[in-house]
Amino acid sequence: MDPLTTNNFILGLTAWAIAFLVALWVSLILWTFRDIRSRARDPLVRILAVIVVALLFLPGIVVYLILRPSRTLEEEYQNSLEEEALLQSIEDSPLCPGCGRRIVDAWTVCPNCHTKLKKPCHECGMLMELPWNLCPFCGTPAPGMRRENITMDEALRPLPVEEEPEPESAPEPATESAPEPDAE
Ligand SMILES: [Zn+2]
Ligand SMILES: [Zn+2]
Repeated sequence: MDPLTTNNFILGLTAWAIAFLVALWVSLILWTFRDIRSRARDPLVRILAVIVVALLFLPGIVVYLILRPSRTLEEEYQNSLEEEALLQSIEDSPLCPGCGRRIVDAWTVCPNCHTKLKKPCHECGMLMELPWNLCPFCGTPAPGMRRENITMDEALRPLPVEEEPEPESAPEPATESAPEPDAE
């Protein structure tokens, strides 16, 4: 092989390698600049990150990847929003009128001081505030409360009972052993 051609080949190969390394170096610096811009607000930190990568090249990228802030500013912002919302929901939770501790809306009794907090509707079982005398879910009045615009049918319908009624007369003895033929 012609020594001149070999030389030219090596020269071309070297030039190509240098061009590739320069392109890689510039793109790594650009990538670092964009990456640190999304992670740090401090201009000094941004400049330092770019300088480390520009001076150390590939090892600089490794150093940068180790030292860069783990979360981007966007993630940081989302995180702070979530924390704020969580804090807000804690502050918004109601307090027990008996002991002042935080309670959950679905509780009927305070577990700490046993104060009654809510009452269940007799018709649908949904929880009602204690002062309410009408269920907002099904419209049933609370026991002992008068309902306006009541129809005769509704007035004559037996009210839902809270406790087992006391038997007024003695219960009939069960006669299952000897059923009468004409029972119905
Ligand atoms: Zn309480
Ligand atoms: Zn109800």
